[in-house]
Amino acid sequence: MNALLTQLRALVGDAHVLTHDDPATDLSAWEQDWRKRAHGRALAVVRPGSTDEVAGVVKACVAARVSIVPQGGNTGMVVGSVPDDTGTQVVLSLSRMKAVRELDAANLTITVEAGCVLQELQETAERAELLFPLSLAAEGSCTIGGNLATNAGGTQVVRYGNTRDLCLGLEVVTAQGQIWHGLGGLRKDNTGYDLRNLFVGSEGTLGIITAATLKLYPRPAARLTAWTAVPSLDAAVELLGLAHQHLGAGLTGFEVMGQFALSLVNKHFSQLRVPLWRDTPYCVLLENSDSESEAHARAQFERLLETALEREVLNDAVVAENLAQAQQLWHIRESIPLAQAEEGLNIKHDISVPVSRIPAFCHETDALLQREIPGVRLVNFGHLGDGNLHYNVQAPEGTDGPLFLKSYEEKVNSLVFDAVKRYHGSISAEHGIGSLKVGKLPLYKDPVAMALMRQIKLSLDPLNLLNPGRVIEP
Ligand SMILES: Cc1cc2nc3c(=O)[nH]c(=O)nc-3n(C[C@H](O)[C@H](O)[C@H](O)COP(=O)(O)OP(=O)(O)OC[C@H]3O[C@@H](n4cnc5c(N)ncnc54)[C@H](O)[C@@H]3O)c2cc1C
Repeated sequence: MNALLTQLRALVGDAHVLTHDDPATDLSAWEQDWRKRAHGRALAVVRPGSTDEVAGVVKACVAARVSIVPQGGNTGMVVGSVPDDTGTQVVLSLSRMKAVRELDAANLTITVEAGCVLQELQETAERAELLFPLSLAAEGSCTIGGNLATNAGGTQVVRYGNTRDLCLGLEVVTAQGQIWHGLGGLRKDNTGYDLRNLFVGSEGTLGIITAATLKLYPRPAARLTAWTAVPSLDAAVELLGLAHQHLGAGLTGFEVMGQFALSLVNKHFSQLRVPLWRDTPYCVLLENSDSESEAHARAQFERLLETALEREVLNDAVVAENLAQAQQLWHIRESIPLAQAEEGLNIKHDISVPVSRIPAFCHETDALLQREIPGVRLVNFGHLGDGNLHYNVQAPEGTDGPLFLKSYEEKVNSLVFDAVKRYHGSISAEHGIGSLKVGKLPLYKDPVAMALMRQIKLSLDPLNLLNPGRVIEP
């Protein structure tokens, strides 16, 4: 291993190969996942500064038969970006590769390196009076390489799609250390298999994304946010239909939040002043982006809310008066995961079912869980506009969190995932498979799809050196 480390130092510079040999170096930021569910031990953390250096690192690791764990901002939710505990894996951090290579305003595209932090990318677009619409609560830390590798979703999918839909081209270092030059701002290209879409969502198991060309959009003239109280989940789905009708492409956000989820924000972050939650089972946060003017957006919103009130699909609503108020409302929504963490350990799910079937799914699964674990508390919230719920299960009041997880995690996962399957849904809508769900995937995914995925992994990474143990066991 010493020969490999010497080679890696020669490739990227001594300062960018971090190991446990130096007692002053603390590697825990790279070795522990965001949710603190896993703490591995790396042979080294290597931080190349260019695509050629990434290729060199991969070739050296392949020659030494050492496996590689690509890492961006390490905000992933499924234990996919940290090493195992063998001390034999190299963490390849893209954090030094942050450059914006090109912004082509006329083509509405931007080309950035994989380590570029999402918020910095959004701000670069904004300075050019354009919009990069991907938006999620981890945007201050997650990187575009990680977003692509996990095909991240976030709050704007209902209008702009997942990260996959925002990507026009990629530069990738293969498992053999070759460079695929697939950057380019083409919106049409039918020249064979779509390699770009193979790497997007592959969670570092097929190649290392080093740069990407992404779509930009004109900035909306106005963005308005409304917070509404709805009498049921069925009403929330009906409100979504009305919002599509009234706002068309202006509908850029539609988030549902259950009463218990909001009660946790109220309990743990009382300064946030959650509106309208006490007397309603669900609240919905809507965003309307308008290319004309704020007055136009407000008039559209008013017509929508009036119709919804008349049809009794909502009980009450507040429309943010200004940007600061809108940000406060979004902040409440984004604080739910943190409030939930404050309440104690819980079992997280990130599932999707067709929007039309969400109410039936929740009625059935809520009742099942209550029957099996009396007093269990459901933290249900998410991107209803995309059929995606964070359907999380919190221990009954007063129950010890770790004990609850130990006793019930397996059972709760099976109950929820079996229900998802009955409703033709997905056990991972956003966060991916990582190592957390690698054992579950074959139980819930079509066997032919699993076999094809195994063949793809084998042909692109026959030595199984790229993020082994994640997504699929070859
Ligand atoms: C508070 C919070 C809110 C979140 N909200 C959302 C949300 O709304 N929607 C959503 O989809 N996700 C969400 N996430 C999850 C997470 O932020 C995303 O998965 C994000 O895309 C991960 O980016 P990252 O740079 O941190 O990647 P990492 O965590 O470093 O890596 C994630 C995976 O991608 C691989 N990878 C990373 N970089 C590369 C690369 N350059 N080439 C190849 N593989 C690579 C890693 O090996 C790993 O498998 C949230 C996370 C947090 C902490």
